[in-house]
Amino acid sequence: MKREKAVVVFSGGQDSTTCLFWAKERFAEVETVTFKYGQRHALETEIAADIAAELGVRHHLLDMSLLGQLAPNALTRDDIVIEHEEGALPTTFVDGRNLLFLSFAAVLAKQVGAKHIVTGVCETDFSGYPDCRDVFVKSLNVTLNLAMDYPFVIDTPLMWLNKAQTWELADRLGAFEFVKDRTLTCYNGIPAAGCGECPACKLRKRGLDEYMATSGRGGVR
Ligand code: ZN
Repeated sequence: MKREKAVVVFSGGQDSTTCLFWAKERFAEVETVTFKYGQRHALETEIAADIAAELGVRHHLLDMSLLGQLAPNALTRDDIVIEHEEGALPTTFVDGRNLLFLSFAAVLAKQVGAKHIVTGVCETDFSGYPDCRDVFVKSLNVTLNLAMDYPFVIDTPLMWLNKAQTWELADRLGAFEFVKDRTLTCYNGIPAAGCGECPACKLRKRGLDEYMATSGRGGVR
């Protein structure tokens, strides 16, 4: 019996869209929240709103543009090159992003009577982002519960999956085609298979190829 309500932190990308399908299967009611923080590609928030509408879930768009102002990064600034040097955090890392997003999502979740907050962070395939680690999420979960005296549960269905397994999960949820054709993961703002060149596209494609090779789903592309 599905009873509880969840808020999904939703960017319209592969991971958070898979999380949205996961949440819809699990919870009686689901809402989504997308953060606008000066992304170079406005299409990202438009796609998120479109997907939410199509799946019949309420969508909240919150303005967090101060984040781009505070922590200039390659996702918000054309003049910062996307790169990942050995031993350093990639230039796509935004200091404080998940800390702030999850905190604001929690404020919203409490307002709308949701206990669960679902996020697509992942430690397995992560690019070294410290705020995608399980220990960070667990620590923040405790902090949020104490801060608002409310029994939040942060769900991270992708935490221990690699990209191929995330495709497998989407498939199991009946969302494989939807995720493949409708989401935007590319740092260059090109939906579906994307530009094919940026790190996000490469990671997505490698996982898809691996899943296709092992699942007998050949020919779907
Ligand atoms: Zn790309």
